[in-house]
Amino acid sequence: MTEELFREDATLLTCEATVVAVDEAGIVLDRSVFYPLGGGQAGDAGTLTTAGGAVLAIVDTRKHKERAGDIAHVPAPGADLSAFAPGTVVTMQVDAARRRAHMRFHTATHLLCALVPHPVDGCSITAGYARLDFHMNEPLDKDALTAGIASLVAEAHAVRHRWISEEELDVNPGLVRSMSVQPPRGLGRIRVLEIEGVDLQPCGGTHVANTADVGEVVVTKIEKKSAMTRRVVLGFAEPAAG
Ligand SMILES: [Zn+2]
Repeated sequence: MTEELFREDATLLTCEATVVAVDEAGIVLDRSVFYPLGGGQAGDAGTLTTAGGAVLAIVDTRKHKERAGDIAHVPAPGADLSAFAPGTVVTMQVDAARRRAHMRFHTATHLLCALVPHPVDGCSITAGYARLDFHMNEPLDKDALTAGIASLVAEAHAVRHRWISEEELDVNPGLVRSMSVQPPRGLGRIRVLEIEGVDLQPCGGTHVANTADVGEVVVTKIEKKSAMTRRVVLGFAEPAAG
C-alpha cells in the first residue's frame, strides 16, 4: 500500500521513495507525493530520478486498478524503465506549476460550492480549467459568481483538513455535497476539508492553505447541460504560464 504523503501535506512536492513494482500500469513506490486522479482532480506529473542520475518523466498518476491501495506513476509511452527496477531508491519531484494550478482550482471549486447551494453531480479539475456540475434548474449569473469567488479570496479564509470517523459522517449526512462521488468507506476514517466559515465537506484532494492563495479565478462559462444540470467552468484570470 503506497503511503500517501500528499494527503497530509499538499505543499510537499519532493520525497525519496523505493520502487516496489513495475507493470503495465506504471511504477509503484512505497510512498508518494504524487496525487492520483480522483475526486475530479487530475493526477500529478513530474519526474523520478535515481542516485545514478537516470531521470524518468511521469506523465500521469492513477490509483492502481489491480493492486488495491497502491498508486501507479505512469511513464511516457516507450520510456526506458531499465534503471527503475524494484528496490531502486528514487527522488520524486512533482511538476510544481501543474500541481499549483490543481490546488488553486480545487480550492476555488469549494468556494463555488459555498456560493451555489445545490448538490454537485460532476467535477473535473485540470491545470487549465475546472468545471463543476450542479443539480439545479435555476439560472446562474457568471459575473455574480466571479465576484463572489473574488470576495471569498480577498477575505483570506484558512483552509485545512482533518479526519473524522465514519460514524461522525453518518450523523452528519448533510456534509456530503456530491451526488456522484461518495467518500471512500471501510478505511475507518474520512478526510474532511474545511474552509473556515465557508465550506466543510469530505474531500481527499489537494488545496491551497488559504483562500488568498487561490488568486484570480473567474467563471468563464455557464452551460445548461440538461434540464437539471448547470455546468460552471472556471479559469485563471492571468494568461497561462509559459
Ligand atoms: Zn477538495
